[in-house]
Amino acid sequence: MSSVSRAPSSIVLFGPPGAGKGTQAGNISRVTGKPQVSTGDMLRAAVKEGSQLGAEAKEYMEAGLLVPDEIIIGLISERMMHDDATEGVLFDGFPRTIAQAEELSKITNVSLVIMIQVPDEDIIDRIVGRRMDPRTGDIYHVKFNPAPSDITPRLVQRKDDTEETVRSRLDAYHDQTKPLSSWYNEVSKDSDLRVISVDGRGSIDAVSKLIENEIGS
Ligand code: AMP
Repeated sequence: MSSVSRAPSSIVLFGPPGAGKGTQAGNISRVTGKPQVSTGDMLRAAVKEGSQLGAEAKEYMEAGLLVPDEIIIGLISERMMHDDATEGVLFDGFPRTIAQAEELSKITNVSLVIMIQVPDEDIIDRIVGRRMDPRTGDIYHVKFNPAPSDITPRLVQRKDDTEETVRSRLDAYHDQTKPLSSWYNEVSKDSDLRVISVDGRGSIDAVSKLIENEIGS
């Protein structure tokens, strides 16, 4: 007797820096059962560890530039060999170039791309006010999502969340990452890939609901 098997497939969470990808990823991961794979988190862990890869990546990250594709592809290829990745994962902040997307298509089947849209003029405020709890990884915002007062003293700001670096990160997004949205839209015309787009300007809960409705429909 044969049973119908569902092919493993991954989800890509796409959007400019500060769109709320990291914030939304936890909920999407819970709803879909796919583990979150964030290249930004993996790179920050490598920097903290002081590995050679971390030392190399650090210079690019602090300058607001993209880390070279070879380094990123190496990290992802290794990560996709872990047991929890066999049914597909939720990519957060990857791919960020067309070359990365092309390599990714050789490693896993991407069935859904979720694009979170936030206009440039909102990005700087969103990123510069962002703070992280180093103990839990939870992300807060001084104005839009303040942390409870007992947690506030231990919050940290990411080194690359300063206004100057954010401007470089936005340039990198427009030059190298944004073209991927048309690329994925083209791919979706000749395949089963679904591309959905949500307005990322609402509250965290409102955006989560929009995403859940789109995923479920
Ligand atoms: P994120 O946490 O996703 O905002 O990433 C922080 C920084 O890590 C970015 O500004 C890049 O320097 C680097 N980075 C993360 N993911 C990638 C990627 N897929 N390709 C190139 N650089 C990346």
